[in-house]
Amino acid sequence: MIARTLIKNGTIFTHNKTIYNKDILIEDKKIVQIDTGIDVENCEIIDASDLYIVPGLVDMHCKIQDPGYDNKETMRTAGQSAIAGGFTTITCNPDLIPCVDNKAIVEYVMSKAKNECDAHLVPYGSLTKACEGEQLAEIGEMQLAGVAAVSDGDKAIQDASVVKNLFLYCSMFDLPIITHCEDTSLSNDSNINEGTIASYLGILGAPVSAETVHLMRNLLLAEEYDADLHITHVSTAKSVELIRMFKRQGSKVTCETSPQYFTLNEEAAMGYNTLIKVNPPVRTEEDVYAIVKALHDGVIDVISSDHNPDTIDSKEVEFDLASFGISSFETAFSVAYTCLVDAGYLTMEQLVEKMSYTPSRILTLNKGVIAEGAAADLMIFDPNEDYFIDASKFKSKARYSPYDGLTLKGVVKYTFVDGKKFDMADTEDIIPHEL
Ligand SMILES: [Zn+2]
Repeated sequence: MIARTLIKNGTIFTHNKTIYNKDILIEDKKIVQIDTGIDVENCEIIDASDLYIVPGLVDMHCKIQDPGYDNKETMRTAGQSAIAGGFTTITCNPDLIPCVDNKAIVEYVMSKAKNECDAHLVPYGSLTKACEGEQLAEIGEMQLAGVAAVSDGDKAIQDASVVKNLFLYCSMFDLPIITHCEDTSLSNDSNINEGTIASYLGILGAPVSAETVHLMRNLLLAEEYDADLHITHVSTAKSVELIRMFKRQGSKVTCETSPQYFTLNEEAAMGYNTLIKVNPPVRTEEDVYAIVKALHDGVIDVISSDHNPDTIDSKEVEFDLASFGISSFETAFSVAYTCLVDAGYLTMEQLVEKMSYTPSRILTLNKGVIAEGAAADLMIFDPNEDYFIDASKFKSKARYSPYDGLTLKGVVKYTFVDGKKFDMADTEDIIPHEL
Protein backbone atom coordinates (compact mmCIF):
# COMPACT_ATOMS: atom_id res chain seq x y z
CA MET A 1 0.00 0.00 0.00
CA ILE A 2 1.27 3.49 -0.85
CA ALA A 3 2.03 5.67 2.19
CA ARG A 4 -0.21 8.73 2.24
CA THR A 5 -0.18 11.80 4.43
CA LEU A 6 -2.79 14.54 4.34
CA ILE A 7 -1.80 17.90 5.82
CA LYS A 8 -5.04 19.78 6.58
CA ASN A 9 -5.78 23.52 6.64
CA GLY A 10 -2.27 24.89 6.80
CA THR A 11 -1.06 28.27 5.63
CA ILE A 12 1.39 27.60 2.81
CA PHE A 13 4.18 30.03 2.00
CA THR A 14 6.33 29.83 -1.11
CA HIS A 15 8.79 32.44 -2.37
CA ASN A 16 6.08 34.24 -4.34
CA LYS A 17 2.75 33.46 -2.75
CA THR A 18 0.74 32.72 0.36
CA ILE A 19 -2.04 30.15 0.24
CA TYR A 20 -4.47 30.06 3.14
CA ASN A 21 -6.33 27.02 4.43
CA LYS A 22 -5.42 24.44 1.86
CA ASP A 23 -4.70 20.76 2.21
CA ILE A 24 -1.62 19.00 0.88
CA LEU A 25 -1.77 15.34 -0.03
CA ILE A 26 1.52 13.47 -0.07
CA GLU A 27 1.69 10.09 -1.74
CA ASP A 28 4.90 8.13 -1.48
CA LYS A 29 7.64 10.69 -2.22
CA LYS A 30 5.59 13.38 -3.93
CA ILE A 31 3.01 16.09 -3.40
CA VAL A 32 0.08 14.82 -5.48
CA GLN A 33 -2.65 17.34 -4.66
CA ILE A 34 -3.03 20.82 -3.19
CA ASP A 35 -6.66 21.82 -2.72
CA THR A 36 -9.39 22.72 -0.25
CA GLY A 37 -11.24 19.94 1.54
CA ILE A 38 -9.28 16.97 0.22
CA ASP A 39 -10.93 13.83 1.53
CA VAL A 40 -9.16 10.50 1.11
CA GLU A 41 -9.21 7.30 3.07
CA ASN A 42 -6.36 5.31 4.53
CA CYS A 43 -4.03 8.14 5.22
CA GLU A 44 -2.35 9.81 8.13
CA ILE A 45 -3.78 13.24 8.88
CA ILE A 46 -1.86 16.20 10.28
CA ASP A 47 -3.95 19.12 11.47
CA ALA A 48 -1.99 22.20 10.42
CA SER A 49 -4.71 24.76 11.26
CA ASP A 50 -2.41 27.02 13.27
CA LEU A 51 0.79 26.06 11.49
CA TYR A 52 2.85 27.44 8.61
CA ILE A 53 4.05 25.18 5.80
CA VAL A 54 7.12 26.11 3.77
CA PRO A 55 9.33 24.30 1.24
CA GLY A 56 12.07 22.33 3.02
CA LEU A 57 15.00 24.62 3.76
CA VAL A 58 18.04 24.37 1.48
CA ASP A 59 21.39 25.21 3.03
CA MET A 60 24.40 26.52 1.14
CA HIS A 61 27.07 26.57 3.82
CA CYS A 62 27.86 23.71 6.13
CA LYS A 63 30.96 21.89 7.23
CA ILE A 64 30.67 18.26 8.27
CA GLN A 65 33.83 16.61 9.56
CA ASP A 66 32.98 13.31 7.90
CA PRO A 67 34.95 11.60 6.48
CA GLY A 68 37.84 12.59 8.72
CA TYR A 69 36.98 12.78 12.40
CA ASP A 70 34.73 10.23 14.09
CA ASN A 71 34.45 12.27 17.28
CA LYS A 72 33.03 15.28 15.42
CA GLU A 73 29.84 15.85 13.40
CA THR A 74 29.12 12.88 11.14
CA MET A 75 26.80 12.71 8.17
CA ARG A 76 24.30 10.93 10.39
CA THR A 77 24.28 13.57 13.15
CA ALA A 78 24.43 16.43 10.65
CA GLY A 79 21.35 14.99 8.91
CA GLN A 80 19.47 14.66 12.20
CA SER A 81 20.44 18.17 13.24
CA ALA A 82 19.46 19.61 9.84
CA ILE A 83 16.05 17.93 9.89
CA ALA A 84 15.41 19.12 13.46
CA GLY A 85 16.04 22.64 12.15
CA GLY A 86 13.78 22.26 9.10
CA PHE A 87 16.50 21.76 6.47
CA THR A 88 15.77 19.06 3.89
CA THR A 89 18.78 19.68 1.64
CA ILE A 90 22.24 20.47 2.91
CA THR A 91 25.60 20.95 1.27
CA CYS A 92 29.03 20.10 2.50
CA ASN A 93 32.19 22.16 2.22
CA PRO A 94 35.19 20.33 0.73
CA ASP A 95 37.93 21.57 3.09
CA LEU A 96 38.07 18.29 4.97
CA ILE A 97 40.72 15.66 5.56
CA PRO A 98 40.79 14.15 2.98
CA CYS A 99 39.86 17.18 0.88
CA VAL A 100 36.97 16.71 -1.56
CA ASP A 101 39.12 17.56 -4.56
CA ASN A 102 38.67 14.62 -6.94
CA LYS A 103 35.99 12.40 -8.43
CA ALA A 104 36.69 9.35 -6.24
CA ILE A 105 36.16 11.30 -3.00
CA VAL A 106 33.02 12.99 -4.36
CA GLU A 107 31.59 9.55 -5.17
CA TYR A 108 32.56 8.28 -1.72
CA VAL A 109 30.92 11.27 0.03
CA MET A 110 27.75 10.91 -2.05
CA SER A 111 27.34 7.22 -1.38
CA LYS A 112 28.08 7.67 2.34
CA ALA A 113 25.53 10.49 2.49
CA LYS A 114 22.93 8.38 0.74
CA ASN A 115 23.31 5.64 3.34
CA GLU A 116 23.79 7.72 6.45
CA CYS A 117 22.26 11.18 6.07
CA ASP A 118 18.47 11.55 6.41
CA ALA A 119 18.51 14.93 4.64
CA HIS A 120 19.53 15.29 0.99
CA LEU A 121 23.23 16.09 0.94
CA VAL A 122 24.95 17.57 -2.09
CA PRO A 123 28.70 18.04 -1.77
CA TYR A 124 30.81 20.89 -3.03
CA GLY A 125 34.04 20.08 -4.82
CA SER A 126 37.16 22.09 -4.12
CA LEU A 127 38.52 24.81 -6.37
CA THR A 128 42.14 23.94 -5.72
CA LYS A 129 43.91 20.70 -4.82
CA ALA A 130 43.72 20.06 -1.06
CA CYS A 131 42.13 23.54 -0.80
CA GLU A 132 45.67 24.88 -0.71
CA GLY A 133 44.97 27.72 -3.12
CA GLU A 134 47.61 26.74 -5.67
CA GLN A 135 46.85 24.06 -8.28
CA LEU A 136 43.38 23.79 -9.80
CA ALA A 137 41.34 20.72 -8.77
CA GLU A 138 39.69 18.27 -11.21
CA ILE A 139 36.55 20.36 -11.49
CA GLY A 140 35.11 18.80 -14.66
CA GLU A 141 35.42 15.27 -13.24
CA MET A 142 33.81 16.34 -9.98
CA GLN A 143 30.93 17.99 -11.83
CA LEU A 144 30.23 14.71 -13.62
CA ALA A 145 30.29 12.95 -10.24
CA GLY A 146 27.59 15.33 -8.94
CA VAL A 147 28.96 18.32 -7.03
CA ALA A 148 26.55 21.25 -6.86
CA ALA A 149 29.19 23.96 -6.73
CA VAL A 150 32.90 24.48 -6.28
CA SER A 151 34.47 26.18 -3.30
CA ASP A 152 37.55 26.03 -1.11
CA GLY A 153 35.22 26.17 1.92
CA ASP A 154 36.50 28.53 4.56
CA LYS A 155 39.90 28.77 2.94
CA ALA A 156 40.44 31.84 0.79
CA ILE A 157 42.69 31.70 -2.27
CA GLN A 158 45.33 34.36 -1.74
CA ASP A 159 46.96 34.35 -5.19
CA ALA A 160 44.89 36.45 -7.62
CA SER A 161 46.34 34.68 -10.67
CA VAL A 162 44.98 31.37 -9.37
CA VAL A 163 41.52 32.94 -9.05
CA LYS A 164 41.77 34.35 -12.56
CA ASN A 165 42.73 30.92 -13.95
CA LEU A 166 39.87 29.31 -12.02
CA PHE A 167 37.35 31.76 -13.43
CA LEU A 168 38.62 31.09 -16.96
CA TYR A 169 38.63 27.31 -16.42
CA CYS A 170 35.17 27.22 -14.73
CA SER A 171 33.50 29.06 -17.63
CA MET A 172 33.37 25.59 -19.28
CA PHE A 173 31.31 24.04 -16.52
CA ASP A 174 28.35 26.25 -15.55
CA LEU A 175 28.96 25.64 -11.84
CA PRO A 176 28.67 28.32 -9.17
CA ILE A 177 32.02 29.32 -7.68
CA ILE A 178 31.71 30.01 -3.97
CA THR A 179 34.36 32.05 -2.21
CA HIS A 180 35.06 32.93 1.39
CA CYS A 181 36.66 36.36 1.26
CA GLU A 182 39.64 36.84 3.52
CA ASP A 183 43.00 38.42 2.88
CA THR A 184 45.05 36.46 5.39
CA SER A 185 47.83 39.06 5.38
CA LEU A 186 45.27 41.38 7.04
CA SER A 187 43.01 39.05 9.02
CA ASN A 188 45.48 37.97 11.74
CA ASP A 189 43.73 34.55 11.79
CA SER A 190 40.65 36.66 12.60
CA ASN A 191 39.59 35.92 16.14
CA ILE A 192 37.47 39.01 16.61
CA ASN A 193 36.55 42.26 14.87
CA GLU A 194 39.31 44.86 15.01
CA GLY A 195 38.02 47.66 17.23
CA THR A 196 37.28 48.72 20.79
CA ILE A 197 36.21 45.30 22.11
CA ALA A 198 39.31 43.62 20.65
CA SER A 199 41.51 46.29 22.24
CA TYR A 200 39.70 45.96 25.57
CA LEU A 201 40.20 42.19 25.55
CA GLY A 202 43.76 42.48 24.27
CA ILE A 203 43.10 40.26 21.26
CA LEU A 204 44.44 40.97 17.78
CA GLY A 205 41.46 41.76 15.56
CA ALA A 206 40.55 41.22 11.91
CA PRO A 207 39.78 44.54 10.20
CA VAL A 208 36.84 44.97 7.83
CA SER A 209 39.39 45.32 5.01
CA ALA A 210 40.49 41.68 5.53
CA GLU A 211 37.12 40.83 3.99
CA THR A 212 36.55 43.76 1.63
CA VAL A 213 39.98 43.85 -0.06
CA HIS A 214 39.59 40.20 -1.01
CA LEU A 215 35.92 40.62 -1.93
CA MET A 216 36.68 43.56 -4.25
CA ARG A 217 39.40 41.56 -6.00
CA ASN A 218 37.03 38.61 -6.57
CA LEU A 219 34.22 40.91 -7.77
CA LEU A 220 36.54 42.57 -10.29
CA LEU A 221 37.93 39.28 -11.56
CA ALA A 222 34.43 37.75 -11.80
CA GLU A 223 33.29 40.74 -13.84
CA GLU A 224 36.28 40.58 -16.16
CA TYR A 225 36.04 36.81 -16.74
CA ASP A 226 32.26 36.47 -16.52
CA ALA A 227 32.32 34.03 -13.59
CA ASP A 228 29.29 32.71 -11.65
CA LEU A 229 30.53 34.02 -8.34
CA HIS A 230 28.72 33.49 -5.03
CA ILE A 231 30.11 35.15 -1.90
CA THR A 232 29.74 33.34 1.43
CA HIS A 233 28.83 34.84 4.78
CA VAL A 234 28.99 38.58 4.16
CA SER A 235 29.75 40.23 7.51
CA THR A 236 30.33 43.93 6.94
CA ALA A 237 28.40 47.03 5.82
CA LYS A 238 31.21 47.85 3.41
CA SER A 239 30.91 44.40 1.74
CA VAL A 240 27.20 45.02 1.24
CA GLU A 241 27.98 48.40 -0.32
CA LEU A 242 30.48 46.84 -2.77
CA ILE A 243 28.13 44.03 -3.77
CA ARG A 244 25.29 46.51 -4.20
CA MET A 245 27.46 48.59 -6.52
CA PHE A 246 28.44 45.58 -8.65
CA LYS A 247 24.85 44.34 -8.86
CA ARG A 248 23.70 47.79 -9.97
CA GLN A 249 26.28 47.67 -12.74
CA GLY A 250 24.84 44.38 -13.97
CA SER A 251 27.10 41.85 -12.23
CA LYS A 252 25.48 38.43 -11.78
CA VAL A 253 27.19 37.92 -8.42
CA THR A 254 25.09 36.41 -5.61
CA CYS A 255 25.81 36.37 -1.90
CA GLU A 256 24.72 35.04 1.43
CA THR A 257 24.95 35.90 5.07
CA SER A 258 24.39 33.79 8.18
CA PRO A 259 22.35 34.32 11.38
CA GLN A 260 25.23 35.54 13.54
CA TYR A 261 25.89 38.47 11.19
CA PHE A 262 22.37 39.89 11.40
CA THR A 263 21.86 39.29 15.12
CA LEU A 264 25.12 39.61 17.06
CA ASN A 265 27.85 42.23 17.26
CA GLU A 266 31.41 42.26 18.59
CA GLU A 267 30.19 42.82 22.15
CA ALA A 268 29.13 39.16 22.17
CA ALA A 269 32.83 38.31 22.57
CA MET A 270 33.03 40.09 25.95
CA GLY A 271 34.24 37.76 28.67
CA TYR A 272 36.25 35.90 26.01
CA ASN A 273 33.14 34.12 24.81
CA THR A 274 34.52 31.46 22.46
CA LEU A 275 31.00 30.43 21.41
CA ILE A 276 30.87 33.47 19.14
CA LYS A 277 34.33 32.91 17.66
CA VAL A 278 33.57 32.70 13.95
CA ASN A 279 35.41 33.54 10.75
CA PRO A 280 34.78 36.24 9.64
CA PRO A 281 34.12 37.68 13.10
CA VAL A 282 30.83 39.32 14.06
CA ARG A 283 31.24 43.07 13.57
CA THR A 284 29.55 46.24 14.90
CA GLU A 285 25.90 47.19 15.36
CA GLU A 286 26.15 49.34 12.19
CA ASP A 287 27.24 46.26 10.23
CA VAL A 288 24.36 44.22 11.68
CA TYR A 289 21.94 46.95 10.61
CA ALA A 290 23.41 47.13 7.08
CA ILE A 291 23.06 43.36 6.70
CA VAL A 292 19.43 43.38 7.83
CA LYS A 293 18.76 46.21 5.38
CA ALA A 294 20.50 44.31 2.55
CA LEU A 295 18.39 41.23 3.30
CA HIS A 296 15.31 43.41 3.11
CA ASP A 297 16.19 45.13 -0.15
CA GLY A 298 17.54 41.99 -1.84
CA VAL A 299 21.25 42.76 -2.13
CA ILE A 300 21.82 39.68 0.03
CA ASP A 301 20.21 36.75 -1.78
CA VAL A 302 20.56 33.90 0.68
CA ILE A 303 20.66 33.08 4.38
CA SER A 304 22.85 30.05 5.00
CA SER A 305 23.27 28.28 8.32
CA ASP A 306 27.08 28.37 8.38
CA HIS A 307 26.75 25.20 10.47
CA ASN A 308 30.33 24.58 11.54
CA PRO A 309 30.34 22.16 14.46
CA ASP A 310 33.35 21.00 16.44
CA THR A 311 33.84 19.41 19.87
CA ILE A 312 33.02 21.28 23.09
CA ASP A 313 36.68 20.79 24.09
CA SER A 314 37.65 22.95 21.12
CA LYS A 315 35.64 25.82 22.65
CA GLU A 316 36.65 25.34 26.30
CA VAL A 317 40.12 26.77 25.79
CA GLU A 318 41.67 30.24 25.54
CA PHE A 319 40.03 32.50 22.97
CA ASP A 320 43.08 32.47 20.68
CA LEU A 321 43.17 28.67 20.61
CA ALA A 322 39.43 27.99 20.37
CA SER A 323 37.91 26.58 17.18
CA PHE A 324 35.90 28.76 14.81
CA GLY A 325 32.24 28.08 14.20
CA ILE A 326 28.70 27.70 15.48
CA SER A 327 26.42 24.67 15.66
CA SER A 328 23.71 26.36 13.69
CA PHE A 329 21.24 23.97 12.03
CA GLU A 330 18.90 23.86 15.01
CA THR A 331 18.75 27.62 15.55
CA ALA A 332 19.18 29.18 12.08
CA PHE A 333 15.52 29.17 11.07
CA SER A 334 14.10 30.31 14.40
CA VAL A 335 16.72 33.06 14.70
CA ALA A 336 15.87 34.26 11.18
CA TYR A 337 12.11 33.97 11.74
CA THR A 338 12.24 35.81 15.06
CA CYS A 339 14.73 38.55 14.19
CA LEU A 340 13.72 39.17 10.57
CA VAL A 341 10.08 38.15 10.03
CA ASP A 342 8.57 38.57 13.49
CA ALA A 343 10.57 41.80 13.86
CA GLY A 344 9.05 43.12 10.62
CA TYR A 345 12.10 43.33 8.31
CA LEU A 346 11.19 40.46 5.96
CA THR A 347 7.97 38.86 4.82
CA MET A 348 7.52 35.10 5.10
CA GLU A 349 7.83 34.91 1.31
CA GLN A 350 11.19 36.67 1.46
CA LEU A 351 12.39 34.29 4.16
CA VAL A 352 11.36 31.27 2.04
CA GLU A 353 13.13 32.85 -0.90
CA LYS A 354 16.38 33.28 1.05
CA MET A 355 16.38 29.95 2.88
CA SER A 356 14.95 27.62 0.25
CA TYR A 357 14.07 28.90 -3.22
CA THR A 358 17.14 30.97 -4.09
CA PRO A 359 19.75 28.55 -2.67
CA SER A 360 18.07 25.83 -4.73
CA ARG A 361 18.09 28.04 -7.83
CA ILE A 362 21.76 28.99 -7.45
CA LEU A 363 22.74 25.33 -7.01
CA THR A 364 20.29 24.14 -9.73
CA LEU A 365 18.69 21.60 -7.39
CA ASN A 366 15.03 21.79 -8.42
CA LYS A 367 13.92 22.26 -4.78
CA GLY A 368 12.41 25.14 -2.89
CA VAL A 369 8.86 24.87 -4.22
CA ILE A 370 5.52 23.49 -3.08
CA ALA A 371 3.60 22.24 -6.10
CA GLU A 372 1.65 19.25 -7.32
CA GLY A 373 4.16 16.77 -8.73
CA ALA A 374 7.10 18.18 -6.77
CA ALA A 375 9.10 16.12 -4.28
CA ALA A 376 7.52 16.26 -0.82
CA ASP A 377 10.32 18.20 0.89
CA LEU A 378 8.49 20.35 3.41
CA MET A 379 8.86 21.99 6.77
CA ILE A 380 5.93 22.74 9.07
CA PHE A 381 6.37 25.10 11.98
CA ASP A 382 4.35 26.85 14.65
CA PRO A 383 4.87 30.61 14.31
CA ASN A 384 3.37 31.35 17.72
CA GLU A 385 5.04 28.81 19.93
CA ASP A 386 8.10 29.90 21.91
CA TYR A 387 11.29 27.99 21.23
CA PHE A 388 13.55 27.84 24.28
CA ILE A 389 17.04 27.06 23.03
CA ASP A 390 18.68 24.33 25.08
CA ALA A 391 21.89 23.42 23.27
CA SER A 392 22.35 20.35 25.48
CA LYS A 393 19.41 18.83 23.60
CA PHE A 394 20.78 19.44 20.08
CA LYS A 395 20.84 16.49 17.69
CA SER A 396 24.15 17.87 16.47
CA LYS A 397 27.23 16.51 18.20
CA ALA A 398 28.23 20.13 18.82
CA ARG A 399 25.93 20.92 21.73
CA TYR A 400 26.80 24.55 22.25
CA SER A 401 25.48 27.80 20.85
CA PRO A 402 25.84 31.53 21.37
CA TYR A 403 22.01 31.55 21.42
CA ASP A 404 21.80 28.96 24.23
CA GLY A 405 19.20 29.96 26.83
CA LEU A 406 17.36 32.43 24.60
CA THR A 407 13.66 32.14 23.82
CA LEU A 408 12.82 32.56 20.14
CA LYS A 409 9.67 32.24 18.09
CA GLY A 410 8.97 29.56 15.51
CA VAL A 411 9.15 25.91 16.48
CA VAL A 412 9.76 23.29 13.80
CA LYS A 413 7.06 20.61 14.20
CA TYR A 414 7.50 18.34 11.18
CA THR A 415 10.06 17.98 8.42
CA PHE A 416 9.30 15.87 5.34
CA VAL A 417 12.16 14.58 3.19
CA ASP A 418 10.95 12.92 -0.01
CA GLY A 419 7.61 12.29 1.72
CA LYS A 420 9.21 10.73 4.79
CA LYS A 421 7.85 12.40 7.91
CA PHE A 422 10.04 13.41 10.85
CA ASP A 423 7.91 14.46 13.83
CA MET A 424 9.86 16.59 16.30
CA ALA A 425 7.53 15.64 19.14
CA ASP A 426 8.34 12.01 18.55
CA THR A 427 11.89 11.28 19.68
CA GLU A 428 11.74 7.89 17.98
CA ASP A 429 11.77 9.61 14.60
CA ILE A 430 15.11 11.17 15.20
CA ILE A 431 17.07 8.57 17.07
CA PRO A 432 19.37 10.22 19.57
CA HIS A 433 22.91 9.55 18.51
CA GLU A 434 25.53 7.88 20.67
CA LEU A 435 27.66 10.23 22.74
ZN1 LIG B 1 34.02 30.98 5.39
